[in-house]
Amino acid sequence: MKNISILGSTGSIGTQTLQVVDQYPDQFCVKAIAAGSNIDALEKQILKYKPEVVAVWQEEKAKELALRVKHTSVKVLSGMDGLIAVTTLPSVQIVVTAIVGMIGILPTMEAIRAGKDIALANKETLVTAGHLIIPLVKEHHVALLPVDSEHSAIFQCLHGEKKEQVDKILLTASGGPFRGKKRSELEQIQVEDALKHPNWSMGRKITIDSSTMVNKGLEVMEAKWLFDVDYDQIQVVIQPQSVIHSMVQFQDGAVMAQLGTPDMKLPIQYALFYPDRNPLEGERLDFWKLKEITFEKPDIENFPGLSLAYRAGRLGGSMPTVFNAANERAVSLFLNRKIGYLEIPEIIAYVMGQHQLVPNPGIEEILEIEQDTYEKIAAKWRD
Ligand code: NAD
Ligand code: MG
Repeated sequence: MKNISILGSTGSIGTQTLQVVDQYPDQFCVKAIAAGSNIDALEKQILKYKPEVVAVWQEEKAKELALRVKHTSVKVLSGMDGLIAVTTLPSVQIVVTAIVGMIGILPTMEAIRAGKDIALANKETLVTAGHLIIPLVKEHHVALLPVDSEHSAIFQCLHGEKKEQVDKILLTASGGPFRGKKRSELEQIQVEDALKHPNWSMGRKITIDSSTMVNKGLEVMEAKWLFDVDYDQIQVVIQPQSVIHSMVQFQDGAVMAQLGTPDMKLPIQYALFYPDRNPLEGERLDFWKLKEITFEKPDIENFPGLSLAYRAGRLGGSMPTVFNAANERAVSLFLNRKIGYLEIPEIIAYVMGQHQLVPNPGIEEILEIEQDTYEKIAAKWRD
C-alpha cells in the first residue's frame, strides 16, 4: 500500500490520478489533497477517500469547507501552509504535483526535504527552479518521476539504458489546433478556438500553451533538467497524430520510442507504480487502422513561443522564470479577453527583453522576479 498526496486534486491530472487510485484501491491510500477553490469537488473527494488533511488555497473557501465536513475527522487548512502540510504529511510516501503554475515550487521543495518521492506533473516548478530542485532531489535521495506524457515516454525509453550513451532527445509535439496557420489567420483566434486541443483533454492553461507551442518550450526546459542534457541535444519534432509520445536517440544511432493512445492515466500510473507496469484498460493502438504516422519541423516563425523558450533556457538563471511568469499572465489576459492571441508571445518577448538576468537565483529571488514580471505586465496591459 502506497500513501499518496495530491496537489491539485480537482484538476485534469488530479482527477485522473484519483481514477488510477479507483482502479487499484488496495495499492493506494489518498492521505492528503489540495485545490484552489472548488470546494464542491473537494467535499466529494473527502467523503470518498477520507484523507487526513485537505488544503484549500482561499481562506474563506477553506472555512466554508471545514463547516461542511465538520462531522468527519479531516483537518482543513488554507494558503501556502496548507499546501506544505499536504506535501509533507508524515504518512505520505509520494506526492503528485498536479497543481498549475509556480505556486507548486515551495510545496514541492518542502516535500523533497521531507523525503517524499515526487510524481511531477507541474512542469513550471522544474522550468523555473530546476537548478534548486535537482540538487535537492539528489541530496535527499528521493525519486523524481515524470508525469508529463513526453517526459514519461523518454523516461520509459531510458529504462535500463546509460544516461551518458544518449545522443539526443526527440520531443514530440502535436502542433496543436492551429498547426499550419499563418500569422494573419492566428490574429483572429478566439478563446473558444484555442481551448479545443485535437488530441488531448487538459486544463485551460496548458491547452492554450499547447496551441501557442509555449507548452513545448516549457517541456524542452523540463527535459533539460529531468534528463541532464544540453539544449542542443533536445530536438522538437511535430507528430500531429500524438501516437509517438517522444523518443531517444542513442550514440549508436538507435532510436527508442514510446507509443500509445493519448491517455494521461498511463504516465500517471507508470510514475505511481514505477518500476512496475500494471494493467490499464482503454483503447489500444491499431496499426492496421492507423496506417501512417507523419512528422514535421516546428514552424518557429508563426509560433515564436518555442524559440523564445529555447532562448530563455539557454540564457538560464532567472530568464525561464520570466518566460514562465509572463506566459502565465499573458494566458490569463487572453482567457479574460483582454488581449489578442498573438499578443501572448509578444508579451513574453517584451518582458524577457526588459529583464536583467540573475545568474543563479534562490527561491526568494525567483518569487520576487515572478512578481516583478506580473507588475511589468500590469503596467502595460490591464486585466
Ligand atoms: P487544471 O487547471 O485542470 O488543474 C489545476 C489544479 O490545481 C486544480 O485542482 C486547482 O484547484 C489547483 N490549483 C490551482 N491553483 C491553486 C492554488 N493556488 N492552491 C491550490 N491548488 C491550486 O490543470 P492540469 O491540466 O491538471 O495541469 C496541472 C499541471 O500538470 C500543470 O503544471 C500542467 O502543465 C501539467 N500537465 C498537465 C497535463 C494534462 O493533461 N492536463 C499534461 C502534462 C502536464
Ligand atoms: Mg506534455
